[in-house]
Amino acid sequence: MRVPVIFICLLLVNAAQAQVKTTNNVPVENKSAAVKYGETITSAAVSKQLHIIAGAGMEGRETATAGQEKAAAYIISQFKAAGLQPGVDGKWEQYYPLYADSLLNSTITVKEKTYLYGKDFLSDLRNGVAQDLSATQVVYADMGIVNAAQDDYRQQDVTGKVVMIRDVVKKGMHRDKSNLEDKIKAAHDKGVAAILVISPSAGRFSALNQQKLRTTGLYWQKDTTARPNVYFITPALASAIMGIENSEALLEDLDNGKKVPALINTDIHIVFEKAATILHPSNVLAYLEGTDKKDEVVFVTAHYDHLGKEDDKIYYGADDDGSGTSAVIEIAAAFARAKKAGNGPRRSMVFMTVSGEEKGLLGSRYYTEHPVYPLERTVADLNIDMIGRIDPAHEKDTNYLYIIGDNKLSSELRPINEKANNTYTQLKLDYKYNDPNDPEGFYYRSDHYMFAQHGIPIIFYFNGTHADYHAHTDTVEKISYELLAKRARLVFYTAWDIANRDRKLVVDRHER
Ligand SMILES: [Zn+2]
Repeated sequence: MRVPVIFICLLLVNAAQAQVKTTNNVPVENKSAAVKYGETITSAAVSKQLHIIAGAGMEGRETATAGQEKAAAYIISQFKAAGLQPGVDGKWEQYYPLYADSLLNSTITVKEKTYLYGKDFLSDLRNGVAQDLSATQVVYADMGIVNAAQDDYRQQDVTGKVVMIRDVVKKGMHRDKSNLEDKIKAAHDKGVAAILVISPSAGRFSALNQQKLRTTGLYWQKDTTARPNVYFITPALASAIMGIENSEALLEDLDNGKKVPALINTDIHIVFEKAATILHPSNVLAYLEGTDKKDEVVFVTAHYDHLGKEDDKIYYGADDDGSGTSAVIEIAAAFARAKKAGNGPRRSMVFMTVSGEEKGLLGSRYYTEHPVYPLERTVADLNIDMIGRIDPAHEKDTNYLYIIGDNKLSSELRPINEKANNTYTQLKLDYKYNDPNDPEGFYYRSDHYMFAQHGIPIIFYFNGTHADYHAHTDTVEKISYELLAKRARLVFYTAWDIANRDRKLVVDRHER
């Protein structure tokens, strides 16, 4: 489960184990062949898996790290042992590119005084390109606004020049981020070599996490749109360029109409160097061929990545999403046992554990944009993300599971899931988070959403959040294994029905 999408200022560039009720009251007359295999998904089996997956050896499974690769190798070993087939044209992994840039060196020298990155200025690291630029003039273009009514460049030729603009609004007005983007575009259209943005919060640069300012973190795609390098500078640095002694009130003075010449004679040297890295994390896919409807596929998914480690603290991610990963492995093994015994599903099954989830659903996004199995023949995605714990709302009655998204694309899915539950698992299904107006927005926060965006019916199985969510205390001893196994069995029985029914699930709804 990923954190909600929050809007980050452009300047920053970017329960104790509860008692579990066991239910042995499955109505015998309703038992089917499915039960024989579903019951092989035991608490002991998922516990064994989870102790390895969320063990210290996996180092928190952060995407594009050695820990993630170890986890992938382990998952593959389990799929192989269960007798499944590699799911990516004979291979187990689908690799996808992610990018990460880190700053090597950046300085701005004005009249032989050198100003430092992270203290006196910041740059737009991700979009920045190598630069070593000396100039004797800086063009001051006030707010840098260019539109039908206004041209802050006053039709000057600024091709190849360094321009300085300010990005402030008067007190009490909101700063408009798109406004800055417009200004950068206007400067780009005029062919400038670098943009210096005098920033009101620049004085706070040195208080920011300096480590985080020097790397972009992983990002999805190389932005191929060329644009000039953008440097956010402190009023002090701006004053030095302008040759003004007192920088304290610079922005206020400019707001109040202080006149600055459009052409400033100075001596400036800008250096920017970064290292660009391409990383190749993976999704792991196992395939089980169906019988008479094998061209249609049913997906069962979970994300195997988590948050990695910080210094010597490991984020174990036992619930998030070691629980789902363990469940997918055991569900896959149960289907493989069924097939070996001649009870294999009619439709093909794909068991996919993805990475990149905690970075923004990147692995599932890549898969659905580069599907190995045609999306139009992908019948459903049952996604499991956090099913091993009990949230504060259910401490008294722990036999529950949140069901999210099940009725959004197909009217047939909820009845199938409820029938499987009524027949085999008797969990209290809680639909609270399926409400599109729920402020948590969980529907948008795990990998099923990428499938739903392509019109594929999904169910998201989830236990809710808890005090250890995204903390290094999300550990194996806090998991309820009976509950984890039972919830995994519900996914198994629902998948069994979807894979074996005569007709493919209808897509007859389009809910948010
Ligand atoms: Zn998470």
